[in-house]
Amino acid sequence: MSTAISAQNLLRDRGLRVTPQRQSVLNLFLTESGQHFSADQIRQRLLPQMPGLARGTTYKVLQEFVRAALCEELATPDGVSLYGLRLRPHHHFICDQCGRWFDVEVTGVDGLRPVALPPDSEVRDVAVFFHGVCSECRGASGSA
Ligand SMILES: [Zn+2]
Ligand SMILES: [Zn+2]
Repeated sequence: MSTAISAQNLLRDRGLRVTPQRQSVLNLFLTESGQHFSADQIRQRLLPQMPGLARGTTYKVLQEFVRAALCEELATPDGVSLYGLRLRPHHHFICDQCGRWFDVEVTGVDGLRPVALPPDSEVRDVAVFFHGVCSECRGASGSA
């Protein structure tokens, strides 16, 4: 295991030029490891340090990250896309109360076999979703 991953190295690694915008967005993901954000949430978080960050720029950077396989884009039921770091394959736990997505590692996925695929189709990816209530929401409903 090497030391902490640097945003600069990751960007270069994926063939992306290092720009302040890309670096800030990637740093946010690296700091808040395992979290998923909408484009607007990312922009809100970065505005204090990058007051000029436009909505379109944020979105563009995220699309570049998705194309470079740095980020995953997750469609949520309310139509807002969430973005998360995808440095290694993972699955998700979704809190049905606050709507947050958490990365989880799942064993046994490789052994999953579909019983009846549509004819002539080919499986390229498997996504597992766990639904439940996160610790924060469980605490909120229990005690004060
Ligand atoms: Zn929750
Ligand atoms: Zn994720």
